[in-house]
Amino acid sequence: MNTPIYTGRYAPSPTGPLHFGSLVAAVASFLDSRAHQGRWLLRMEDLDKPREMPGAADDILRTLEAYGFEWDDKIIYQSERHDVYQATLDQLIADDKVYSCNCSRREVADIAHAGIEGPVYPGLCRDGLSRDRKTIAWRFKTDVAHLVFNDRIQGSIDHCMQRDIGDFVLKRADGQFAYQLAVVVDDAEQGITHVVRGADLLNSTSRQLLLQYSLNLHSPVYAHIPIATNERGEKLSKQTQAKALRVDNAALMLTQAIQFLGLNPPDALAQLPLSDIWQWAYEHWQLEKVPQQSS
Ligand code: GLU
Repeated sequence: MNTPIYTGRYAPSPTGPLHFGSLVAAVASFLDSRAHQGRWLLRMEDLDKPREMPGAADDILRTLEAYGFEWDDKIIYQSERHDVYQATLDQLIADDKVYSCNCSRREVADIAHAGIEGPVYPGLCRDGLSRDRKTIAWRFKTDVAHLVFNDRIQGSIDHCMQRDIGDFVLKRADGQFAYQLAVVVDDAEQGITHVVRGADLLNSTSRQLLLQYSLNLHSPVYAHIPIATNERGEKLSKQTQAKALRVDNAALMLTQAIQFLGLNPPDALAQLPLSDIWQWAYEHWQLEKVPQQSS
């Protein structure tokens, strides 16, 4: 059997311009792909139209180009792939791995206990819809107690699936497909072998692995890099007013991103052209040097 060529990806959500935290994730996955002579693909995660910022998708692509990223193959846009997500959901319905649910968020919040990411669904609709209401969501049946996986940076991770995560939504009552479903379908379609992304998604990984098992899909290997934070310790994001990346100081930002990822670039590196900075980074990249947490 041929071993598939290393295929990495970067999957920004166009909710705003790229910031330093996004740059770090892009640099890590790009360098790791190149270090393995692999492919690096881009995917625009523009599934959540209400949260999207007009023009952000194009702005992200222009910024990546200006920073010297080069991607292989055509870009996938999640907004164009509803049929594929629906077909996957239909397959899970046919296999009895999901169920419909018409509980409101409020009803769940009132009785559920807290999990690692919000309330854990108490299973009210597992044996049939529990109330008379039209709009329905689709939930995945989480039937395993624990899921253990090995992360290349964070080490062995053990998630208590039923206690801390529960039956999670794959399609919301408003018809919106959930990130967890779309990401699994797309990683498989793009033949992703290695995911390198921010540690804020570590908690999502067990759900994605569970979906991959249920759909008989190959699971990528995961590496979660530390999250870049501001001086208040908050994750850099649109909500915390993270500054948009500028292209006029790309060399400095790129050098700082490399440093954040555990490499030790010489002081003069930030003065060099971008191509030289990338060259230095290819030669020195070692995932083992990436710290588990930012200092
Ligand atoms: N679209 C997600 C984000 O921008 C990343 C998803 C992923 O890498 O799996 O945070």
